[in-house]
Amino acid sequence: MIEAKGYAVHNKTDLLAPWTFERRDLKPHDVLIEIAFCGICHSDIHQVRSEWGPAKYPMVPGHEIVGRVTGIGAEVAKFKEGDLVGIGCMVDSCKTCPTCRQGLEQFCEKGETVFTYNSLERDKKTPTYGGYSNKIVCTEEFVVKVSERLPLSGVAPLLCAGITTYSPIKKWGIGKGHKVAVVGLGGLGHMAVKFAVALGAEVTVLSTSPSKEKDAKNLGAHNFCITTNPEHVKKYSNYFNFTIDAVSAPHDYEMYFGLLAIGGVHICVGLPTEPMKFSAFSLLRGNRSISVSSIGGIPETQEMLDFCAEHDIVSDVEVININYVNEAYERVLSSDVKYRFVIDMDTLN
Ligand code: NAP
Ligand code: ZN
Repeated sequence: MIEAKGYAVHNKTDLLAPWTFERRDLKPHDVLIEIAFCGICHSDIHQVRSEWGPAKYPMVPGHEIVGRVTGIGAEVAKFKEGDLVGIGCMVDSCKTCPTCRQGLEQFCEKGETVFTYNSLERDKKTPTYGGYSNKIVCTEEFVVKVSERLPLSGVAPLLCAGITTYSPIKKWGIGKGHKVAVVGLGGLGHMAVKFAVALGAEVTVLSTSPSKEKDAKNLGAHNFCITTNPEHVKKYSNYFNFTIDAVSAPHDYEMYFGLLAIGGVHICVGLPTEPMKFSAFSLLRGNRSISVSSIGGIPETQEMLDFCAEHDIVSDVEVININYVNEAYERVLSSDVKYRFVIDMDTLN
C-alpha cells in the first residue's frame, strides 16, 4: 500500500484535521498522482456535515484535484510520468453499460459510479478518499489531461465547478442571442458567468450580495441585480431565456421562475438540502420548465478543459494553506469567497 497524508473528519460535527491513510498499490491501469491543488466545493461542506444523507467516515473530502503523474501501472496507455492531470467527482464506473459508454458515467446503469470520496469502490467495500491529500491513485479512464498553459491553481475548480456549469450550458445550447441569469455568485456561479459570456450570451448576475457587483462586471457579466430588492428584481420580469441557479441554500424558486420569458428554463445546479417547493402554476404561466443537472461525464470534462485552455478560462481563486481549511468553510457558508478556495497541497508537508 502507499502511505498518504491528508485532512479528514471522523463525524459530522468534527473539524477537518490531519490524518494518515493508505492508497492502493497500482493496478495495471492505475495512475499515481502527486496532488498540487484541490478546490473547496460547497458539496464538500454538505457531505462533511452529512447533509445529503448518511455520510461515510472517516472522510477526506475534495473532488477538484490537479497534479502530476508520478507513477503508472504496467498497462497505462494514456499517461506518462510528469503529465499534468486532473480528477473530478468520479474515480470509476462499470465503463461497459450503454450510459457509461455514452460518457455519462455519473449515471452508470449498474449503479457502479464510484465518487471520489464519501463512496465505495466497485467492490462495495473499500472507501474512497478525496483530494485534500498529497497523493491519489485512480484508473486512467477517470483521469483527464490538463494543459500546461493555464495557472494550475485556477484549473483545479474546473474539475467540478467548471464541468457542472459547462455541461448544462452546452446541453441547452446557451450562447449568442440568449439572455441568461446566473443566480448566486459563488464557485459554480462565477464559472457559469465565464462560460456564458465566452459563448456570447447576455449575462445578468442575480445575487444577494451587493458587494459582488464590481466583480460580476469584471467577470464579464453585463448586468447585476440584487435579489433582496423587489424593485430591482421586477425590472427583469419575463426577461431571461435561462436562469442558471447555483444557490447552495434553500430559496424561493417561484420568484426566479417569474423572471423567465415564455418557454424559459430554470436550470438548477445548486443542491440545497431541503426539498424544492413551488406550485405547478408558477411554471404553467409561459410554459416554463425546470431542469436539474448533475456534474458531467469524463469525455465532456476533457472537452471543457480543452475549451478553457483555448479561451484562457480559469477559476478566480484564493489559494490557502491547508491549516486554514476550517476557516475557509465558514467563509464559504457566509458567501465570502472570491470565488473558490483552493488548497495548496505543498502546505501539507
Ligand atoms: P458557493 O461557492 O458557496 O456559492 C453559493 C452562492 O449561493 C453564494 O456565494 C451566494 O451567492 C448564494 N447564496 C448562498 N446562500 C443563499 C441564500 N440563502 N439565498 C440566495 N442565495 C444564496 O457554493 P458552490 O460551491 O458554488 O456550490 C453551489 C451549490 O451547487 C451547492 O449546493 C453545491 O453542493 C452544488 N453543486 C452541485 C453540483 C451538481 O452536480 N449539480 C456540483 C457541484 C456543486 P450571492 O452572494 O451572489 O447571493
Ligand atoms: Zn463539487
